[in-house]
Amino acid sequence: MKKLNILGSLLIATLVISFSSCKKDETVSKPQINLTELGYENSGIAYAGNDLHIEANIVADGKIDKVNVEIHHEGEHGKMSLTKVFVDEKWHVDSTYTKFSGLRNTSFHEHYEVSLDAEPGNYHFHFAVTDMDGNQTILERGIEIRQTVEKTTQIITDALKPISGKEPKSYTKHIAETVHLKLPIL
Ligand SMILES: [Zn+2]
Ligand SMILES: [Zn+2]
Repeated sequence: MKKLNILGSLLIATLVISFSSCKKDETVSKPQINLTELGYENSGIAYAGNDLHIEANIVADGKIDKVNVEIHHEGEHGKMSLTKVFVDEKWHVDSTYTKFSGLRNTSFHEHYEVSLDAEPGNYHFHFAVTDMDGNQTILERGIEIRQTVEKTTQIITDALKPISGKEPKSYTKHIAETVHLKLPIL
């Protein structure tokens, strides 16, 4: 009888141990972002008056809750709340997506229209993924906004007018052709 009891206890103990090991909490890893394309051919360049193409793959063990995309001129960093009205007049992106909610993995593909009057220069790109456990991963990159040929031509035309005193069309054409501007293939 005693031997049976010991065996029985051992069996129960083994069962308890294996059961509790199954219940052991597994820490959910933070969302993973693989930014595959930022701008056409992953150039990190966008053109005023054109669209900005973004592609990323997201993997979230804790399931995606929301995705937030922010793009703003580097000079605007940290000033968002202080000069909200001022910033709102400038071209920027601040979009939150809940359409991926509940997914473990997804591909993100969006196009953002860069306004024609967007100030050329260096911009910040912030891509944040929050999972349903509240874990957040933020990916940050730089984007360069360039002017289009049309806008550059207009600027050169305006600049030449008071100097030459003549019709500057031929100069403008020549200068615009020599200015190296790579346009995206749409
Ligand atoms: Zn695209
Ligand atoms: Zn920023």
